[in-house]
Amino acid sequence: PVTIYYDDDADLSLLKNKTIAILGYGSQGHAQAQNLRDSGCNVIIGQRKGSPNYDLAVSHGFKPVSAAEAAEAGDLINILLPDEVQGDVYKADVKPNLKPGNLLLCSHGFNIHFGQVTPPEGVDAALVAPKGPGHLVRSEYVKGGGVPSLIALYPGASENAKKLALAYAKGIGGTRGGVIETTFAEETETDLFGEQVVLCGGVSALVKAGFETLVEAGYQPEMAYFECMHELKLIVDLFYQGGLNYMRYSVSNTAEYGDYTRGPRIVTEETKKEMKKILEEIQSGKFARDWLLENKVNQASFKAIRRRERTHQIEKVGRELRSMMTWIDSKEV
Ligand code: NDP
Ligand code: MG
Ligand code: MG
Repeated sequence: PVTIYYDDDADLSLLKNKTIAILGYGSQGHAQAQNLRDSGCNVIIGQRKGSPNYDLAVSHGFKPVSAAEAAEAGDLINILLPDEVQGDVYKADVKPNLKPGNLLLCSHGFNIHFGQVTPPEGVDAALVAPKGPGHLVRSEYVKGGGVPSLIALYPGASENAKKLALAYAKGIGGTRGGVIETTFAEETETDLFGEQVVLCGGVSALVKAGFETLVEAGYQPEMAYFECMHELKLIVDLFYQGGLNYMRYSVSNTAEYGDYTRGPRIVTEETKKEMKKILEEIQSGKFARDWLLENKVNQASFKAIRRRERTHQIEKVGRELRSMMTWIDSKEV
């Protein structure tokens, strides 16, 4: 049975005489830092100079210092940098400044689980991971709510580490929404699986294949875009509110019948076999190894694929159509 912690299970006063170092003022960093400060905690930001995030932290009333200085000042040190840079920053700036009794934190277990960050003797580590992007972590907190979060303890962590991690989760608003207990392995592996197989990889591949099939059959790309990409949001919004049941209740019976009889022909036993293979690559560390090595070669193939993907026809058609839909807060990157 799952364990869920709420406000009453966490004691903010444990953070009273402690300094929390937040390394990185990006999506999670800016949200968690401001929430903690509004919860009465003492927060110091480690953010390199010369970036818009530095100026953002200053405009929010912080006085950012280097990652090393922040790590040195912090009793709790949360590394909220991109996963692929955490290992190097940890080795150069954090590790030399850790003291016994410090608590090392993260919002995704990748680096600790796959051995890029290993807390030294006497230093505990825990994960506090909001299940939502930073802007939502901030906006929900400001409204008096909180984004549900996950908590996990590094094997061998003390009882005190758990209390501090729960207090941290309360400080960012997590315990208002509920904090689910998990492990580093479970959080890391399910997160990677979700983004690869369903959320990012699976959905992108499905949308592109549907679009290409219609266009190759001679239908107008604009029509294909609306059917295979634009309308996806309407369907996902229904999932979000009431699951598959509510989506099927809301669409026409024709669409519902097509769903039951045709969907399983798209995601087949063979697809599921491949999902299991991808999961196995995550569990065995193969994916982590691939991604970390890719970074050692300055993301050579990652950047090449990114360049190619950006010029897919669905992106060109989409850009034009979105500019016609003035109510969409359309974005260009
Ligand atoms: P972002 O990419 O938004 O933040 C990047 C931060 O790291 C910025 O402050 C950036 O500074 C700094 N940074 C980037 N590269 C370097 C570098 N080479 N050296 C020093 N600083 C650097 O990260 P996220 O907030 O998305 O992710 C942080 C952690 O939170 C990750 O572990 C992620 O998995 C986790 N997480 C993220 C979620 C999300 O929705 N974004 C959700 C849940 C967990 P600069 O401006 O100078 O580049
Ligand atoms: Mg992820
Ligand atoms: Mg239709």
